[in-house]
Order: sequence, then structure tokens, then C-alpha cells
Amino acid sequence: MNTENVDVLVIGAGPAGTVAAAIIHKAGYNVKIVEKQQFPRFVIGESLLPRCMEALEEAGFLEAVKAKGFQEKFGAKFVKNGKICDYIFADQYTPGWNWTWQVPRGEFDKTLADTVAQMGVPVSYQTTVTAIEFNGSDSITTIEDSAGNKRQVAARFIVDGSGYGRVIPKLFNLDRPSNLVPRKALFAHTVDNKRSLDDEPNRITIIVHAYGVWVWVIPFSNGVTSLGFVSEPDFFKQYEGSGEAQLRALIAAEPYLANRFKDVEMVFEPKVLESWSGTTEKFYGDGFVLTGNVTEFLDPVFSSGVTLATVSSQLAAKGVIRKLQGENFDWEEEYTKPMMQGVNTFRSYVMAWYEGTLDTIFFADNQQPGIKSKICSVLAGYVWDTTNPYVKDHATALHKLAHIIGLRDSLAAK
Ligand SMILES: Cc1cc2nc3c(=O)[nH]c(=O)nc-3n(C[C@H](O)[C@H](O)[C@H](O)COP(=O)(O)OP(=O)(O)OC[C@H]3O[C@@H](n4cnc5c(N)ncnc54)[C@H](O)[C@@H]3O)c2cc1C
Repeated sequence: MNTENVDVLVIGAGPAGTVAAAIIHKAGYNVKIVEKQQFPRFVIGESLLPRCMEALEEAGFLEAVKAKGFQEKFGAKFVKNGKICDYIFADQYTPGWNWTWQVPRGEFDKTLADTVAQMGVPVSYQTTVTAIEFNGSDSITTIEDSAGNKRQVAARFIVDGSGYGRVIPKLFNLDRPSNLVPRKALFAHTVDNKRSLDDEPNRITIIVHAYGVWVWVIPFSNGVTSLGFVSEPDFFKQYEGSGEAQLRALIAAEPYLANRFKDVEMVFEPKVLESWSGTTEKFYGDGFVLTGNVTEFLDPVFSSGVTLATVSSQLAAKGVIRKLQGENFDWEEEYTKPMMQGVNTFRSYVMAWYEGTLDTIFFADNQQPGIKSKICSVLAGYVWDTTNPYVKDHATALHKLAHIIGLRDSLAAK
């Protein structure tokens, strides 16, 4: 079998893989990406957070993405029973980016992959990793192309950015269940011809449809809008027929959507995803690091996926470079702990969302701007700023705030 030698083999050409590859390549190393699919390919995860712009910038991707003219995103709008809660990233507490994009991921991911290829990183599409053997930190990976031809890649280090493929966790039995309840999404891309019926037609909107059930509306600059319902799987059982019939019934049942999306043309038969949350026993090992969705994926509600993917790769790339330079890098202290700080902050917000705690906060009357700006920073992806009490004390701060709002409102009602 042919064997190719590289410094770093990156598995997956999604945001995690391409960001890691670009940063390591820029440090002067020989990097190769293997990607199972042909790009552009469909993947969900279309709303970005401002914090990911820092990672895209460091990777050298920003100009190429800007040139695509994707829909800019300046905040997030939550709606419940007609009441609106608006977060504007420019008002956030943590200094940083105050805008980002809403992107059809096929085109966005292809832009990142084409850009990293132009930098000089070869991307082998339709090439799947089927086996890896480690000898200390060196490895031999078996890859297979779509014609069934097998080759080997000898690498000094592997970055696994294989997303839902979870290559290393599956090969080495590292997969672990999430502590989050399994949920399901039913979604489609729609030809949003009646966008102008909305006051803010191009804004991302998250609608609370019922307790534990929410909807994403993510307009793209090409006139298509992504629309998806998320809930525990049992909720969907009351809807019968094809995915399209179910999605149309759901749209008709949500007053905020009914006018704009009634009879809307769907670009593809609605898709279903479920039980997406998962984690791994460890994020690194001798000769490899996991980044992006392979580490831990929580939930779509706060659009944290691509941000955690790109930030983990930004950080992991630095560790890989230091290891290749023969320096020490403490993966536990310098990679896993900071990543878990971010993941666990989002986890508290996801749990508070499904419990209804965040409804109390988001839709409260007379909100204090000083508190709102701190929560806004979390929603912008700045989940590593521990000067923000809504990051540092993420496990308790939201419950305390909701409790105070509840007391205040019950006193006012007397
Ligand atoms: C319903 C839902 C909605 C979501 N909405 C959002 C959102 O609005 N915003 C957001 O930021 N995130 C969202 N996400 C999360 C988002 O999908 C992921 O977090 C994000 O795509 C992770 O990027 P990644 O680079 O880690 O993985 P991916 O984008 O999945 O890329 C991994 C790549 O690895 C390749 N691969 C897999 N196996 C192999 C193999 N054996 N060999 C070679 N290549 C392989 C795959 O083909 C793929 O291209 C959502 C998730 C769900 C389930």
C-alpha cells in the first residue's frame, strides 16, 4: 500500500478541520486534510456567533468569507406569545466582535476548504478514514477513496475534526453519552418569498412555540430561509404524514410563522436529526487531539456548534504546533479545561432554556441593561471571559436572576 508522510493529518474539512489545518500550515508544517464527502455538502448549523470570527481571522479565512456576501447577523431575537426579546451584540459586555453571519453551510464550508487548499493544504475529498494505528505519538492511518482504493498516511500528529463522524472516539471506544435529554429537529430550507411581511425580514429569530418546543428562522442572503422545529421526540408524534406534511402543520400552528411561511416552497424534503448530544472520554491522547463536534456537542439552541468547533481548533492548533516544536503542552490544563469552561457555560444556558428559566429572564419587563449586556456576551459566544459573572457563575447566576425577577413580579402584582 502507498504511504504518504505528513506532519499533521486532519480528519474532516468542516470548520473544525479547516481552521486547525490553516493555523498549523501557517506555522510551516506539512498538513493534509481527508474529507469523506464531496463539497459542497449539506450540514446543519447555519447561525454563527461573533466569537468564531476571531478563529476565522486567525486561520486567514475572513476575507474569503466576506467576499461571499452572506447575510450579516448583529444579534438574536427571541419571541414568545408575540413578546420580543432582542439581544444586540453591539451592547455586549465583553470587548470583541459584535457581528457575524447566517450561512448556508454547504457554501460556507466549501469557502473555508477552498481557502485552506489555496494556502497549500491538500484536501482529499471522498476519502474516508477507516483505521488508525498509533505507535507512540506517530500514527499510520488507512484511508479509502470512493473507488475503494486504500492508501496509508504516516503522521506525527492527528487532528480529528470529523464532526458527527466521530472517527477517533469510534475507533478507540471513547464515545460517552451526554447528560442532556435527547431531542429531535425537523427542518427545511424554504424559498422565503414573503420575507418582507416581517418587520425585520433578515434577522435570525428563535420562537418559543410551546414549553420545550422552539423554532429557528435563519434567513440567508440568497432569499432562502432555514426553518426548523426542535423538541423532545414525543412532541412530534401528534403530527402525521410525510416530513413536509408535518412541517406544514407545525408552521400553521405557530402564529408568528403562519403568514410568512404558509404555502412556502421547500428546497428539499424536510430532514430529521435526533439525539445529537454526545461527548468523549478524553479530548486528546498521545499523537492526537479531538476538535469541534467530536469533543462535545450540546444543542442547537444558542448556535454554539461552529463557535466551539472553530475555537477548539484554534486552541488545539497551538498545542499541536508546540508539540511539533518539541515543547511541552499540557493538554489537560491548556486545552480540555478551557474548552470545558466554554462548553459548560453553554450547557447551563441550554438547560436553563429548556427548564423555562431563560424565558423568565428573556421576557421580563424592565430588564437591567448591565445584566442584559452580560448575558448578551454569552449569546455572542464570549464564554471564556470569567470577569463576566454570567460566565463565571453560569451554573447558579441564571437561577438567581430568574428567582429575583419572579419575586419582583409577584410583589408588583400585590
Ligand atoms: C439540529 C441542529 C442545528 C444546529 N444549528 C447550529 C447553528 O445554528 N449554529 C451552529 O454553530 N451550530 C449548529 N449546529 C451544530 C453544527 O452542526 C456543528 O457543531 C458543526 O457543524 C461542527 O463543525 P465540525 O467542523 O466539528 O463538524 P462538521 O461540520 O460535521 O464537519 C466534519 C466533517 O468530517 C467529515 N468526516 C466524517 N467522518 C469522516 C471520516 N471517517 N473520514 C473523513 N472525513 C470524515 C464529514 O464528512 C464532515 O464534512 C446544529 C446542530 C444540529 C443537530
